[in-house]
Formats: sequence, structure tokens, C-alpha cells
Amino acid sequence: MLFCSCTTDHVQTPREGTRGWSCVCGLVSVTALSAPLKTTLCHCEDCRKWTGSVGQMAIWYRREDVICSGQLLEFKAGSRVRKSCAKCHSHILTSLPRAGLVEVCVGSAGISISLSAHFFYVTPLIDFGDEVPKFVDFPASLGGSGVRAESWDLHPDVTQAFHGKCLCGSVIVAVSGEPEMTAFCHCLECQKWTGSSGHFAVIFDEALVQIAGDLKTTSDGRRNCAKCLACIASTHCAKTPGLLQICGGILNSPPRLQGHWNYGQRVLSVRDGMAKFKDSPAEFGGSGAVLGEEAAPYVVTIQRKDEDLGLELSFSDRKCRVLKVRRRSLIHEWNQICASDSMVCIYDRLISINGMMATVREEREQLGRATGKIVLIIAKFRYFE
Ligand SMILES: [Zn+2]
Ligand SMILES: [Zn+2]
Ligand SMILES: [Zn+2]
Ligand SMILES: [Zn+2]
Repeated sequence: MLFCSCTTDHVQTPREGTRGWSCVCGLVSVTALSAPLKTTLCHCEDCRKWTGSVGQMAIWYRREDVICSGQLLEFKAGSRVRKSCAKCHSHILTSLPRAGLVEVCVGSAGISISLSAHFFYVTPLIDFGDEVPKFVDFPASLGGSGVRAESWDLHPDVTQAFHGKCLCGSVIVAVSGEPEMTAFCHCLECQKWTGSSGHFAVIFDEALVQIAGDLKTTSDGRRNCAKCLACIASTHCAKTPGLLQICGGILNSPPRLQGHWNYGQRVLSVRDGMAKFKDSPAEFGGSGAVLGEEAAPYVVTIQRKDEDLGLELSFSDRKCRVLKVRRRSLIHEWNQICASDSMVCIYDRLISINGMMATVREEREQLGRATGKIVLIIAKFRYFE
């Protein structure tokens, strides 16, 4: 067990107007003595594996401007030292000793922050849809190429078998089945735990998941690698018993996101057209309340012989909505090749089927048997800012 290496700073008292952070359990606190240099979301492989999420979201400071107290665990990876709370394993900061900089994980701040840049924005797990500068690696001032990302694809979702590893490789996860749901949880605890803007939770039946390697587990169900402290799994977002939320950032090919949970607590807004739940859907123990409204419709055109269309629909309040897109189906295939604003996502509203209103029960029933060319007009789900 190691202690925070910034011990020389522990005797300083924070000045007025400074900002303080703390981890989930409150053992570790961080105080910044100056204004931030910048705020970044780094989508690199290491940041993905450590956070178990989309990547580390951090506020940058000079090392001497950050006071850190409480017991920390350290993991050295290349030129970086990753530090986590010794008790709750919240990700606190990444230190760059040679550059004299620290990246304090934004989650522990619990405030809305404007991002200065995305790093390594090549195949993001979420397309944030923001106007923030995006780099292929990182800016030249930090030793990167400085090349701006002009186009990108979401991370491929092609796997037949989910497996993954933590940052150091000593924890291995293997899943023998399909996920129930994929949700990005924006709650403050998930921000603090992951060191990202939230927890990319791939929710499986716990019986399908095998985890090998030494873990540190907290009483509230969070599991981290005992060596690198990478986030591996948690049980706290979906309140349904028997489900385990594997961190998508450690998986070989994480499934596409199907919605945002606890969006009311977000630190970073996302414009990806997915459903934004205030807390979580009712079937996972939440209120089901959504923050959002529908945007312009999109058209899905599919040729079908006898394949599974893959669309599960619900009908209530005179609206026909997408409940689920089954994997290995025509709609799932469509989602791999279409533009991001034409992806069929849960809670999108089906308006028409081959020109007929989707609100008519017979039309919906016929869709299950329809062959040849199928044209669907669907309205994207969208939230209010
Ligand atoms: Zn803690
Ligand atoms: Zn990174
Ligand atoms: Zn590890
Ligand atoms: Zn959460």
C-alpha cells in the first residue's frame, strides 16, 4: 500500500476561493489553489481501461497548485502515475511527474464544467456531438501531433463474445451471453468512482459473467483491479437483483449505448440522440422519467427475406416506441453502417411502416411478417437542454 506522493503539500492550507474535491467515501480530498489550465476528456486506450468508461475526464493543474490529503493507492503506467482512494477506490488524479502537471478527475468536483478538448477522438465509445476541439492524439504543445480529428466512427460493436482486461492485464472478464442493456450512468458516485464523466455500464445477468484475477470490492458492490485499480464492475446503477454492470471501457468490443441514466446529475452534456433518463427506467428500479423531446425523423430502409428484423416495440400513450434492438438482426446490422443520426435506439418513436401509421395495431403486427423492401420512419428521442 502506498501513500500519495504529494505529501510535501499536505501542510498547506487552501486559500479562499479555491475548489475542493472528495472521493465517494470522503477519505481523500483534493484542493486546487489556482484556476485550471484546461479540462480534457482523453479517449485513449489506457484512460478507457483505467476508468472502465469513455476515458478520463480531468482538470489540469500545475503540480504545486494541488493539495491532496488522505490515503491513496498508486499505479505507475509509462510516464503517468494513476492515483485512487485506498478505501473506496475512486479515481482521484493522474500525475505527470516529468511535465510537473496533474490531471484531477473531474467527477469528484461534481460541477458542470466546460471541456477544452477531446484527446484521441478516433473511435469514441460515445459521440458527444459537441463543438469542443477534437484531436487525433493530443496538441503539439503537449508533445502530440496536434492533428484535429475531422471524422470518426463509434467504436465497432461486432463481437460474438464479450471479454476484456483491466489496464495492467491482471483482471480478465469473460461473458457467455448477451447484455440486458447498455447505459451510461451520469450519477455523481459513478463520476467519482470512474474518474470519467460517468460509468459506461454494460448490464449482464451476473450468472453469465466470469471474472478472474485479484479484485478489491467495496461493501456497495464496486469492483476494481487490486493492482491497477481499474474499474471492473458495479451493482449500484440498476436496482434489479442478479444484474452486474461490467465497465464497457475494459471490453474488447463494448456494445453500443442504449441510453443515459441519472442524466439530471450530469457533468457533461451529450448530444447523441439517445434517451436521457432523469434517473433510470422503471424496469431497472428508477422513476422512468425522461429529460427530452423528439427531434426530426429519420428513414430506415431494409431488404428482408426471412431474417430477424430485431425490433421490439411498445405501444402506450398513443406512441409506438422502440423497446429493444436485438443483436444479430437486420436493424442491428443497419445500426452498424448507418449515419449516427439514423441509428435505431430505444425510445425512438416509430411513426410509419411502409407509409402506414405505426399507431395502427394491424400495421405493427404485419411488420413482424413483412418481406421485401421495408421503409420505416422513426423520430429520434431528444432531451431538453
Ligand atoms: Zn474514498
Ligand atoms: Zn488518456
Ligand atoms: Zn489491473
Ligand atoms: Zn451511477
